[in-house]
Amino acid sequence: MMQKKKVFLGFPHGMCAGVRRALKTVETVLDRFGAPVYVLHEIVHNNFIVNELKKRGVHFADSLDEIPPESVLLFSAHGVSAAVEEEARRRKLRIIDVTCPLVKRLHHAAAKPRDVLILIGHRGHPEVEGTVGRSGAKQTFVVADASEAAALPAFPPDTRIELLAQTTLNTEEVTKVEAELRKRYPQLESAATVCYATTNRQKAVRSLAKKCEAVLIVGSPHSSNSNRLREVAEQEGARAFLIENAGELPREIIENTTMLGVSAGASAPESLVDELLQKLLSAGFQLKTENCTADETTEFSIPEIPEKP
Ligand code: SF4
Repeated sequence: MMQKKKVFLGFPHGMCAGVRRALKTVETVLDRFGAPVYVLHEIVHNNFIVNELKKRGVHFADSLDEIPPESVLLFSAHGVSAAVEEEARRRKLRIIDVTCPLVKRLHHAAAKPRDVLILIGHRGHPEVEGTVGRSGAKQTFVVADASEAAALPAFPPDTRIELLAQTTLNTEEVTKVEAELRKRYPQLESAATVCYATTNRQKAVRSLAKKCEAVLIVGSPHSSNSNRLREVAEQEGARAFLIENAGELPREIIENTTMLGVSAGASAPESLVDELLQKLLSAGFQLKTENCTADETTEFSIPEIPEKP
């Protein structure tokens, strides 16, 4: 008898509290001020969300130079450096800061004075740029992995060194980098933790990947946390695919997979997950929900939004 194809949906998956807060804020700002509303960089790293907001009059700018004076400006969930914030204030832009509170916590940790700050993260990611741009250390280094950590210079034994991490990294990679740095700098102080949402989604995907032949992650190609979910599934031995939506579902997965896992990055809308599941159900898969690996109750209130003058 042919075995029934099964699709397992991991929990938790999809939007985190920081992304929900950012989206609720931009909705409120659009209602109150009307278009155009400016956001420095993408509000969250998801193409579907960004395109929908563009249709409603939200402009995503790469630099402050693209934003007319006195416009309403949102800082994205990934945050900005102190210099960018100061410059936006100097230009009299009406700032509404939707930096995720957990990224803000990282900014505060980075701002403490010390000799050396080492940040584990991906160069060029807005969160890393923003955090480096708030460092209170005499010297700041960004390392992407253990081999980059091994290549850092030697410091005198009394150098005060602190380690922090981008919020959306692979938890196992952070542990490896920290172990490498501890070998080199026994005095290392570490507050390197990824955020609750990243940790929980990775844990759920590890569990999915252990029982499934393949795992699909719904998310955009430039979403850091979605890429890490794909990596985590591969580390556990499953084939893994990061797809934007049901339209990118590989045909061979439908044809050749009996046990399939599905999860979604922290910026992926649930409607895209539903669409994917519908497609899989139509292709003969039976839906199973995976036991929840962590309860999530975190919610962040939206920032204060000024009245329209
Ligand atoms: S992934 Fe974590 S740090 Fe990033 S917005 Fe979500 S809760 Fe905040």
